[in-house]
Amino acid sequence: MNIVSDLAEGRRILAEAIDAAKRLVLFTGAGVSTESGIPDFRSPGGLWSRMRPILFQDFVASEEARLEDWRRRFHLMAEFEAAQPNAGHRAMAGLVARGEAIALITQNIDGLHERSGVPEERLIRLHGTGTHAACLDCDARMEIAEAEAAIAATGRAPRCPACGGLVKCAVVSFGQSMPEAEMARAEAASRAADLFVAAGSSLQVHPAAGLPVAARRVGARLIIVNRDETALDGLADVVLRGPIGRLFEPFDQAARDGAT
Ligand code: NAD
Ligand code: ZN
Repeated sequence: MNIVSDLAEGRRILAEAIDAAKRLVLFTGAGVSTESGIPDFRSPGGLWSRMRPILFQDFVASEEARLEDWRRRFHLMAEFEAAQPNAGHRAMAGLVARGEAIALITQNIDGLHERSGVPEERLIRLHGTGTHAACLDCDARMEIAEAEAAIAATGRAPRCPACGGLVKCAVVSFGQSMPEAEMARAEAASRAADLFVAAGSSLQVHPAAGLPVAARRVGARLIIVNRDETALDGLADVVLRGPIGRLFEPFDQAARDGAT
């Protein structure tokens, strides 16, 4: 493992590796969105230290837990809507658009990769999305604003208009099973990679954190881009310690246009 903290050196290593790769897979976590003003989970002051997650089984069992979950979702939705994709999101969207990255696997639920222009067929959302809700029984979609209006009107957590089932924000909560199709796509992409770049994730949440391991096992190079130490630094070929936006900036068309 080689740890690089110098920005210019980190950019050079990343650019050379991406140029040499034929099948780049990008993998992101909450750290890619902190430069857009959305706090991550495990950094000091992050969400983890402020509130414990609501477990799936508690959501299903308790109206009180559901109402608390919804309150948090409304707050987060407002935060997501106020945020804009940053240089890191834009650079990654450019890599996908130019065919340099075959897939972008994300643990994020904030919708910023989507808004930066990554098409659905290249984006793999492991933990769902916080930008809308769905019925737990029939999967019918409900908008977050609709759920908010229902709670304001009745004081109760919303039910599905189609089947009466519980409606929940479309994120994968702790204790909830992973989406099978997304997981299968992510595993296939990881095994196809010859370069796997994991950016902005502490790589502690499983099974997501198993993907860089799977890629490495079939011979991909592994580059970790993260401000702090991660659980998989020892497995990486190179660890780039620094801000994602600055390290990826050379791949951001808007920044390049501004510079010329
Ligand atoms: P994490 O909070 O565990 O780790 C984030 C990592 O990013 C940290 O190690 C931190 O050092 C690093 N980081 C933060 N800002 C950075 C920057 N600008 N440049 C470089 N590195 C930076 O996040 P995780 O591994 O994604 O796990 C958190 C879980 O919580 C995920 O499952 C995710 O679904 C969810 N979550 C999502 C969001 C979001 O959608 N934006 C936000 C918080 C939590
Ligand atoms: Zn339903």
